[in-house]
Amino acid sequence: MKINEIYTQLDNIGCLTFTTIKDTYPISRIAHFFTFDELGLYFRTMTVKPFYSQLIESKKIAICGMSASTKVSKNDNAMPIFDSGYTIRLTGDTEEVSFEYVKEKALTDAGFALALKDIEKYPAMTTFRISAFTGEIYDYDFECEHREHKLIRELFTFGKTNDYKYGISINDNCIQCGRCYKKCSFKAIQFNSGKYCIDSSKCDACGDCFIACKSNAITIIN
Ligand code: SF4
Ligand code: SF4
Repeated sequence: MKINEIYTQLDNIGCLTFTTIKDTYPISRIAHFFTFDELGLYFRTMTVKPFYSQLIESKKIAICGMSASTKVSKNDNAMPIFDSGYTIRLTGDTEEVSFEYVKEKALTDAGFALALKDIEKYPAMTTFRISAFTGEIYDYDFECEHREHKLIRELFTFGKTNDYKYGISINDNCIQCGRCYKKCSFKAIQFNSGKYCIDSSKCDACGDCFIACKSNAITIIN
């Protein structure tokens, strides 16, 4: 995914959870991005807030959000049924951006122009850029209203090597018994050329296949 596409998905949600580390504990608050450019994603905070000092100290952040989706009803098992939607999360490195940078960008970018007005109104305000990050979009349709499987997961990265691995795979211990295939409610396990394999873009990492397999043939990648 390109940075403009990532920004659009974040901006569609609007209010996101921004988490930093204070000492050894994570601290969260709600904030939003106001624009992006070729160097990263931008948000603002005040220099007097704990958020600011945590950003300056650790230079690390984790962000997540969920598109508008409500618990609409319950099924026969009294389990909630959700509208389709998506969640997004990213983890990355932050850096403070100078007022001069915002001022210059404001000449050509409406997001920066608005930020400039805000900073002029509230002088304790400052701007941060997330300059390198990895993340994921988790697009869900749990009732399979719009497609045949529940999930589409897409990893993305910006400004750094994508060394982020996750998920579940089938290893060489597999005896092709098919127990995992029958168990997977996400339709993430396929049978191709005489072998079972897992499509990580559809896998929820729910662990049902791991529990079902009696041959120690499911590997958890983390
Ligand atoms: S349950 Fe285990 S052994 Fe059977 S097909 Fe799945 S991975 Fe292979
Ligand atoms: S972890 Fe869950 S979703 Fe993923 S392949 Fe196994 S059973 Fe399917």
